[in-house]
Amino acid sequence: MAKKLARLCQPCTACCDGWVKMKIGSADVYPSHPCPHSTGKGCADYANRPSDPCDHFNCAWIIKDSPLPDWMKPSNAKAILMLNKREWQGFPVDVAVPVGKRIPPRTLKWLQTFAEKNSRLLIYTEQIGEKGQFEKQQTVIAYGTEQFQLDVQRSQQAGMNLWQ
Ligand code: SF4
Ligand code: SF4
Repeated sequence: MAKKLARLCQPCTACCDGWVKMKIGSADVYPSHPCPHSTGKGCADYANRPSDPCDHFNCAWIIKDSPLPDWMKPSNAKAILMLNKREWQGFPVDVAVPVGKRIPPRTLKWLQTFAEKNSRLLIYTEQIGEKGQFEKQQTVIAYGTEQFQLDVQRSQQAGMNLWQ
């Protein structure tokens, strides 16, 4: 049986390019505002990158024993999935963010099927605004039971922070 090779990020740099909200030093990183150390091909200050979030970032494609197929690499699937980002009534909630304006249909279908088959819940986002000028806030969409959707809607109105 062929040994499965560990996955490598390159040429993906999606998490450094602003598609995930984070703070690097004093810089706010969010869509249209990449990390100031991102060259678009990698990190210009890799030796000094902060351990949190850079080393601890929970990209579901790169983690050991990832359930994601190869084609779901964020640079290809145009979405980043983070497993177990939240919890709702004892069920794990995964969060997916687009690499671009919105998650493409094929990728979204895979994410929804994965949630259904594994009794998981999904929250995904869409950018507000146009390329190069996306807003800091995103539209949040819940995929799961009606009660889950209502709760997410209420939480969002109350200022839910997806990144905690
Ligand atoms: S999004 Fe995932 S695969 Fe892409 S650079 Fe970040 S950790 Fe690596
Ligand atoms: S410091 Fe480097 S590894 Fe961390 S987000 Fe910025 S470019 Fe990516």
